[in-house]
Amino acid sequence: MHLRSATATEIRQTLEAWMALLNGRASAEGVDVRTVLIDAGFPRAVSASAASVERLERRLDTTAPLARGLLDGDQGAAMAAVNEQLTELDVRPSVVAHDGVGPHIHWTPSTATFDDQVMTDVLMALAQELVENGPARFGVCKADDCDDLFYDATRNRSRRFCDDPRCASRTHTAEHRARRRADRS
Ligand SMILES: [Zn+2]
Ligand SMILES: [Zn+2]
Repeated sequence: MHLRSATATEIRQTLEAWMALLNGRASAEGVDVRTVLIDAGFPRAVSASAASVERLERRLDTTAPLARGLLDGDQGAAMAAVNEQLTELDVRPSVVAHDGVGPHIHWTPSTATFDDQVMTDVLMALAQELVENGPARFGVCKADDCDDLFYDATRNRSRRFCDDPRCASRTHTAEHRARRRADRS
């Protein structure tokens, strides 16, 4: 983990939540958007209306091409895509401390809708990530039959699999069998 600061932690949590939401939305099982966001430190997710969660789901789906585009490693294209999405949003930062949490930045005013707030937080986290690391930490699961995206928070960028533990275990089993076959021949 590269937990250098509270800001770095917040960026990581937000980008990991974005990946989990996109993967979940693309999967047959679906995803509980509210729960993912509560776990990622979005307190407004607790009381957000069903309508705003639905709006958010539709808007998150529109960021899927942007997320897939990051895998090409093209920093200029990623920057342009983020900027295009940001022009749609009312970004108005303020530094705040509340509910026992020390000073941190809110990117949207308290009057922003829940879906505007989450969309802005995701895009600002991505903008800061591009400044810090470029698109290099975004990857796709290496398991066969899995297309899930991940954000690689490891120090040496060694992550290979998505959050589903079955992807790592079935790949390791297959690799083990392949090595045994090679040993025998
Ligand atoms: Zn806050
Ligand atoms: Zn996977």
